[in-house]
Amino acid sequence: MLVIRNPPKKLTEQWLKVNTDKSVEFRQVSLWGQDLIILNFIGEEKRFESVMRDFIDDSSESEILNIQGESPLSGLQLQNAGRVRLSENILLDGQTTVLIAGPCAVESGEQIEAVAHTLSELGLRFLRGGAFKPRTSGYSFQGRGVDGLQDMRSAADRHNLSVVTEVRSETEVEVVAAYSDVIQVGAKSAYNFTLLREAGRTDKPILLKRGFMMTVQEFLQAADVILAEGNGNVVLCERGIRTFETATRFTLDLTSAAKMKRMTHLPIVIDPSHAAGDRSIISDLARAAVALDIDGLMVEVHPAPERALSDSAQAFPLHDLHGLKSSVQRVCEAVGRRLV
Ligand code: PEP
Ligand code: MN
Repeated sequence: MLVIRNPPKKLTEQWLKVNTDKSVEFRQVSLWGQDLIILNFIGEEKRFESVMRDFIDDSSESEILNIQGESPLSGLQLQNAGRVRLSENILLDGQTTVLIAGPCAVESGEQIEAVAHTLSELGLRFLRGGAFKPRTSGYSFQGRGVDGLQDMRSAADRHNLSVVTEVRSETEVEVVAAYSDVIQVGAKSAYNFTLLREAGRTDKPILLKRGFMMTVQEFLQAADVILAEGNGNVVLCERGIRTFETATRFTLDLTSAAKMKRMTHLPIVIDPSHAAGDRSIISDLARAAVALDIDGLMVEVHPAPERALSDSAQAFPLHDLHGLKSSVQRVCEAVGRRLV
């Protein structure tokens, strides 16, 4: 695959058709303030590269990057460190770790208000909560839809917080984008390419969760589907993968998180809650996660965990969030990050 950074104007799809042949896929995208042309060859890469080198004048600003693999935009060759903006005030600059917290689902105005109030008292900025819940069982609570989004938006606005919420289907992207600041694409949707593309067409940052049967390579390819639509604000979220282990809900793949730091420039958030499925081990996992020098932590909290309508067993008590934050903060400081 060749990526041409700042391509010359005369490099068009038409030019390629005339001067090479039709076995090249052409895609143009503007990302991170750069114009990029991605050329995917069906065979004969070397020949195309020399055609390109002859075509592009050495003195121009154009740059040809020959990228191996299937995720050129999330790979390290397109270095973008520090440029993902999660909100107006929060730039993931490699020195900041965000603590995103909130219930699995927005259950009522009172519940989300209680959470938002505590978050703002603790100086946190990001409120999470699902309004469209893709539950494994079609019979369990599916979320409150637009009512839930409205309750969360109001609570967040009262406390000056940003909203992180999941989109479940491409038909809901517009409404979710209207009420949220960061759009979450969940683990069960990480292979839904129509949804990934629609999410990529919005101007909201996308928190992409790793599918629980997804390899790291597939995860980065999914991120590329969003990036290729021109949305550069993509954050990867490790939330546990399915393994042979049954003592925990999933296995938090910190190994892959460490590896991903060396494979992508995209920021990494870790969600210990869905991996754990058990609130008693969240603090330990949260500290282990931020020790990896990552960009964010996402934790499910609830004012009354035992009564949570979804993911009750992993819901961390809201009134203990202060303690969790302090212990995580110490680890962040040890790795040279500020926690917000
Ligand atoms: C969630 O964050 O509430 C959620 C459904 O997570 P996941 O997609 O990781 O299962
Ligand atoms: Mn959940």
